[in-house]
Amino acid sequence: MHCPFCGHVETKVTDSRLAGEGDQIRRRRECLACGERFTTFEAPELVMPSVIKSDRRREAFDAAKLRSGMEKALEKRPVAREAIDTAVSRIAHRLRTLGEREIGSGALGELVMEELRQLDEVAYVRFASVYRHFEDIEAFHEEISKLRAARVPQAPRRRKGGAAPAAQRQQLSLLPAEPPPEDGGGKGQH
Ligand SMILES: [Zn+2]
Repeated sequence: MHCPFCGHVETKVTDSRLAGEGDQIRRRRECLACGERFTTFEAPELVMPSVIKSDRRREAFDAAKLRSGMEKALEKRPVAREAIDTAVSRIAHRLRTLGEREIGSGALGELVMEELRQLDEVAYVRFASVYRHFEDIEAFHEEISKLRAARVPQAPRRRKGGAAPAAQRQQLSLLPAEPPPEDGGGKGQH
């Protein structure tokens, strides 16, 4: 790093040790030009970034608000609360590890869509249609095509007498939610 005294671009680390509770590194440095010594501290930046709205307003990240937006998209869909909890904490964790002071609401929306896509395709399309402001049926159709193209083929084998694969069930969006598939006798089959 640059010397804070003379601005020279090269400094030498003369000592390096753990500081704080072991969550920081303290380094003694010496400027190769003027010989001044100084100390730097290095610590992981795990700060929750602020959310910057499209009108440039800044808002604190609100996990409850994020969750209620996701729940709205997931209404009447067969997704367990625990799975939603996990998705919310995964988003929060990703934000914290970004190392950024702020994140655009657009980028945050993309993270939410990514999680919803894994959880439930119908919820994903619901959220995307509001979020990306689908203006006509073409935009909607395009999103569905993209979704299909990106779909990871998972366990296409059909169990005898078992429930339909998740991907198939999720297409029946206009029917009431089915009860969760019975897990009787199908041990070890994934
Ligand atoms: Zn210097």
